[in-house]
Amino acid sequence: MKKRKIYISKKVIKKMEKLTVKYNDTENGGYIFGKMNPEWVRVLDVSDAGRNAKRTFSKVEFDNDSLLEYVKEKLQINQFLIGTWHSHPRNYSLIPSKLDQSTMININNYFDSTHAPIFIITGIHDGNVKFSIYKINKFGEVIKDMNYEIIDCEG
Ligand SMILES: [Zn+2]
Repeated sequence: MKKRKIYISKKVIKKMEKLTVKYNDTENGGYIFGKMNPEWVRVLDVSDAGRNAKRTFSKVEFDNDSLLEYVKEKLQINQFLIGTWHSHPRNYSLIPSKLDQSTMININNYFDSTHAPIFIITGIHDGNVKFSIYKINKFGEVIKDMNYEIIDCEG
């Protein structure tokens, strides 16, 4: 399978940074929205974890019910749910935990292999917000995929 190129809008990076800093002592996260085909992924928006999300030091549980509204709004402008992101507490690594890996593999199973979801982990290191992008390879393993470019446009 050819490697897909990932395009991430500047706005998305800013929003993830803000949501990571806001909850820097716990995990936070949400859905990733955009468009994709077998050749590319365009990351156009991310959500927060939802009104009644549970954020702790080692885990974030999204409030999927409240996020559903946002998913519907996004669908109307042809932005689809294409993955999830979450932050790790300040100064912790961006490496997916065992729980992260099994969650990612689970979500991946809902998607077609030509339109596989992407996953982002953010964190604060030396005062700066960093991120790593992951995907599931054909062997069902979580691997890093930093083949990305930051874009200005919204669509
Ligand atoms: Zn994690």
